Amino acid sequence: MQMSRTIQATPVAPGIAIGRVMLLHSSSTGNVPVTRITAAQTGKEVKRFHDALQVTKEQIHNIREQLKLRLKAEEAEIFDAHLLLVDDRTMISEVEKNITVSLFGAEYAVHLAVEKFSAAFAAVQDEYLQERALDVRDVGARIIGNISENAAQLPEYDEPRIIAASTLTPSETVGLERERVLGFAVETGSTTSHTAILARSLQIPAVVGVPKELLDSLTIADQLIVDGFSGKVIVNPDSATLEAYHLKSREAQRIYNQLSADKNLLPVTRDGFIVELAANVDADDDYSAVRQAGAYGVGLFRTEFIFMDQTHLPGEDEQFEIYKKLLVSAGNDPVTIRTLDIGGDKLNRGIIRTEEQNPFLGLRGIRLCLRERQDIFRTQLRALMRAGVHGHLQIMIPMVSCYDEVLETKAIIEEIKSELAGADVPFADAIPLGVMIETPAAALIADVLAREADFFSIGTNDLIQYTIAADRSNERVNHLYRPGHPAVLRSIRETVNAAKHHNIPVTVCGQTAEDIVMTPLLVGLGVNELSMPSGAIPIVRRTLRQLYMNECVELVEQALQCCSSADVLELSRRMIRRCVPELADM
Ligand code: PEP
Ligand code: MG
Repeated sequence: MQMSRTIQATPVAPGIAIGRVMLLHSSSTGNVPVTRITAAQTGKEVKRFHDALQVTKEQIHNIREQLKLRLKAEEAEIFDAHLLLVDDRTMISEVEKNITVSLFGAEYAVHLAVEKFSAAFAAVQDEYLQERALDVRDVGARIIGNISENAAQLPEYDEPRIIAASTLTPSETVGLERERVLGFAVETGSTTSHTAILARSLQIPAVVGVPKELLDSLTIADQLIVDGFSGKVIVNPDSATLEAYHLKSREAQRIYNQLSADKNLLPVTRDGFIVELAANVDADDDYSAVRQAGAYGVGLFRTEFIFMDQTHLPGEDEQFEIYKKLLVSAGNDPVTIRTLDIGGDKLNRGIIRTEEQNPFLGLRGIRLCLRERQDIFRTQLRALMRAGVHGHLQIMIPMVSCYDEVLETKAIIEEIKSELAGADVPFADAIPLGVMIETPAAALIADVLAREADFFSIGTNDLIQYTIAADRSNERVNHLYRPGHPAVLRSIRETVNAAKHHNIPVTVCGQTAEDIVMTPLLVGLGVNELSMPSGAIPIVRRTLRQLYMNECVELVEQALQCCSSADVLELSRRMIRRCVPELADM
């Protein structure tokens, strides 16, 4: 019998997973792992390399055309040079040799060739050629990235398994086949990293912060328990532990089913204040889960996940069909669709032109849409406005940090209206436009933004990271990343006050909306709607129905006097323990 081991990680998606391990090596980090293959696998690896070359060529071509359109001829020429590199016979043969003769996996084979050629260029006493070394590295990184994107297929096992990985990118996560995955045990990330958000949305129990030593020691024969409630990971549990966890899993399911039965009850406090509960939808999901949870429509559709396929950009008609389908299924319920928020940890190498040193502070969300990829933005807005005739659509823009971004967006919308009207294409004329409050700048000028916005949606995942300057996906600063931080509460208070003054509603659609310890605070701050993954709605509804608005308002007053997040959360936790003791330990 193998030794049992238990480690404490960070829970990021609730639920219990019990099963064998599937080891997933991700090479989308800067370090390319050395992968060895057998002679029988060489054909497959050469094909992965050539497929990635093809995708890389299309991406570079696409970027070059964009730049040409925007009259940046010089920059476009750089990409001509990149295209030549992708076609370079010597480089291609070198990679093929590394695969077929040296028996390295495709990623590492490219890495070796890139190192060899870039070192040769760098050694020449000629500035022009030295710079080519950088180009070789750049193209190489793109090819390696594309190979690993293609590698997201899971190894074949006859039963679903728990994925153990050092990192798991959002695009890898959306690419997984749900029915083959029981849970995630991952080294990097945090509750609000996009991989964790997707895990919750797909209802896959997950933990992050699993030590590398543990991951390295795992084999595919090991059995694992991943406790997405407490964060425990147990390797090769003994039979008593296994039995206890099967019981815990059944109990969690029982409570969840009980709460789900309340789905038709109003989301109202005991003293009669309604706080709408809406659903977050992260991919091209079916509306039935939203309806099942008794949600009041969709509060956030993260459209970037339909752009995660690196090989093609969804066109206007394709997007129109996706939005229309969602709107039609939602009937009269409101559906808030967020425009593309690529950037940060949500990357698509086909869309993002250059690697940034600080992508979370870079050309993300509305910035990218207004500056470098207006073509994608306009296509998306056209599709949305056309789809708007099929339901109750609201559009919102992410990552706003200044007033002009809202004005520019509105101007583009007006231009698209004229285009559509001129071409006799039906479209919705008066779609409410919301501004996401995700940066301290937006919270501080909420009074100005409220003049132009039809509603606010507070993205607390980002608002917290930017307010506290703590990367939301870096587990090493997780101790600082705290939703109860007084600075965050003050930002929300300012946002709500500005919205009230201008008579527009405020939603919270970040992860704090699903955290019941935050519910009394958000209710007391005067938020009108909470939007979260459908799976979290039953528990938040039960919590809300046990609270009194006047007590929540008092709680907020006390919380705003607190010096630390720990004190704030303790106050709120006390209220939760008193009002909903049955949920306090979930
Ligand atoms: C947020 O930042 O809270 C949010 C809802 O957007 P995302 O998590 O997609 O960045
Ligand atoms: Mg955000």
